[in-house]
Amino acid sequence: MASIKNNINQIREKIDFCAKKSNRDPQEITLIAVTKTMPVYAMKEAVDCQIIDLGENKVQEIQNKFDSFGPEIKWHLIGHLQTNKVKYIIDKVIMIHSVDSQRLAFKINEEAKKYGKVQDILIQVNIAMEDTKFGIGAEDVELFIREIAPYSNIRIRGLMTVAPFVENPEDNRVVFKKMKQIIVDINLKNIDNVHMDALSMGMTNDYEIAIEEGATLVRVGTAIFGHRNYL
Ligand SMILES: *Cc1c(COP(=O)(O)O)cnc(C)c1O
Repeated sequence: MASIKNNINQIREKIDFCAKKSNRDPQEITLIAVTKTMPVYAMKEAVDCQIIDLGENKVQEIQNKFDSFGPEIKWHLIGHLQTNKVKYIIDKVIMIHSVDSQRLAFKINEEAKKYGKVQDILIQVNIAMEDTKFGIGAEDVELFIREIAPYSNIRIRGLMTVAPFVENPEDNRVVFKKMKQIIVDINLKNIDNVHMDALSMGMTNDYEIAIEEGATLVRVGTAIFGHRNYL
């Protein structure tokens, strides 16, 4: 059986390879271990391999697991976030990847202010416009950013997307290219307070392609921990 350690080593090699292949510095790519449904002991195995970025998609799971880990761990909220739950994680997460409404951005700003932090966020983009997915449409990103850029306790660091599930990961290359182009285009507009350098895209199935197209944060679960059992 493949071990978590072997899996992580293999993924790191692939990240390195894909970065170099596309003339990128592997250092600018962060591997986020997606630990949803995984028990703390499995997560600790990953942490023992110098993984410090952990991704969870539920507020409740971060709350449950948080105290089992030290302050060196960087928690990423990668799933849909309800406004009434922001207060439970504002003191815990380094990055919220799933901001997709003005109401949510407003709430994060308020809670961050109360807590005395500036919260790094990403805008979730539903690039393929699948109605099963959260996120805002590509054509609405600029307006959305202009709306929330004045909020002083959030910092818009970049964009995130969950690409469609495809048999052949090459099919998502066009999705990743579009994401990168949106960032380039918006940075050119010099919106006050906005300079985006983070691109959260690529999962087990397609992270190699995502890196070739500019991902700086890849969110990988299954390739590290194996298949999840949803009970
Ligand atoms: C579960 C999840 C992942 C990881 O998916 P894998 O295919 O297991 O790598 C990445 N991003 C989000 C938002 C997720 O919910």
